[in-house]
Amino acid sequence: MTAGRELAARGAWREVARGSGLLWSGPDGERVSPTIFAEMSALAARTGAINLGQGFPDTDGPAAVAEAAVRAIRDGHNQYPPGAGIAELRRAVADHQHRHYGLQVDPDAVLVTTGATEALAAALLALLEPGDEVVTLEPFYDSYAGVIALAGARHVPVPLVQHPTGFRLDEAALRAAVGPRTRLLLVNTPHNPTGTVLTVSELEAIARIAVESDLVVLTDEVYEHLTYDATVHLPLATLPGMAERTLTVSSSGKTYSFTGWKIGWVHGPAGLVTAVRTVKQFLTYVSGAPFQPALALALAVDDAPRRLAASLADRRDLRCEGLAAAGFTVTVPQGTYFVVADGAPLGFDDGAELCRRLPALAGVVAIPLTAFCRDGSGAHSALRSSLRFTFVKRAEVLQEAVARLARLNG
Ligand code: PMP
Ligand code: GLN
Repeated sequence: MTAGRELAARGAWREVARGSGLLWSGPDGERVSPTIFAEMSALAARTGAINLGQGFPDTDGPAAVAEAAVRAIRDGHNQYPPGAGIAELRRAVADHQHRHYGLQVDPDAVLVTTGATEALAAALLALLEPGDEVVTLEPFYDSYAGVIALAGARHVPVPLVQHPTGFRLDEAALRAAVGPRTRLLLVNTPHNPTGTVLTVSELEAIARIAVESDLVVLTDEVYEHLTYDATVHLPLATLPGMAERTLTVSSSGKTYSFTGWKIGWVHGPAGLVTAVRTVKQFLTYVSGAPFQPALALALAVDDAPRRLAASLADRRDLRCEGLAAAGFTVTVPQGTYFVVADGAPLGFDDGAELCRRLPALAGVVAIPLTAFCRDGSGAHSALRSSLRFTFVKRAEVLQEAVARLARLNG
């Protein structure tokens, strides 16, 4: 019996009815319960605190792209689009991958999904058998653990190691985590929540291990355009031997600041993409008819992501300097729109507890790093006092948050 069926037999729905929200649990007891983002956004709404928890911009994406979606609605793009996504968008994704990274992508091997979330879920459900192992970095984006548990597979997280320069891959630990049951490596770069952008040598290490052990790699690159300073994002699929074993996932949510439109995509070898499409059709079938032509137009032009990254670089600096001035130890991110700050120097050794108290203490909401770690893991205890703050907010909102957080140091 899978862990899920066992729980159902034990009446897990009663747990839900009692309000714990626990619905499902993987072979290692990983829980599927309401997400930390929903919980912390509700806390912000309840307390009126500035929400630097859930990562979503407080300004809309390019007006011309929004206008294109409005036009698409008026022009009648309102019924089910094709299962794989409209041809214009699949072609635009393929062109984008070629223009930016030199990847040769067949538009027929692009699948449009309901955000990156669905691409990841459909890929994991398509490729995993109960008992298979999936290796991820730790901390990890929360949906990974949830879907791995839903698939009845085993999640094997490998901690990124914290250096003064940021969180880095430990090749030996990654190699040691791969065993005979490992089916898939699930990588994320630029990395949420640490802001790490994997270097060429880190990507080469991942590629070496994937090739040696003949693994499929699922790579989540939703922050591909949000990198700072001279840092460059390199897709794993560009490394030798990787295109034929890699499913690359991205999304318009982060690149164009339309997180609510939920248009993502995945591309890779035709056989793997067909497997993902087969699952996807029973998850959502299709979605976002009028948004697809609008994003096909957006993807053909490169200046919006570049402008967003440039304006985010300044906001990153504002956020990092403000957190450091408030007394946190800050790890400056090279990518994404998140920064990790350790509350230990301020005397707060429990980040989850600090997040619950932060609205009262400073009128701000953040996310505890432990929400991205496996309960009881080494990373969980190493990151116990750390918080994730987003900086994808208007500068005046960040300035107000800086002023409020200064109270912690007073
Ligand atoms: N992967 C990562 C690393 C994320 O941070 C997010 C959330 N933005 C997603 C996937 C989900 O993306 P989407 O909103 O397109 O489903
Ligand atoms: N990806 C966003 C974050 O990390 C949140 C998305 C969500 O709420 N599921 O904050």
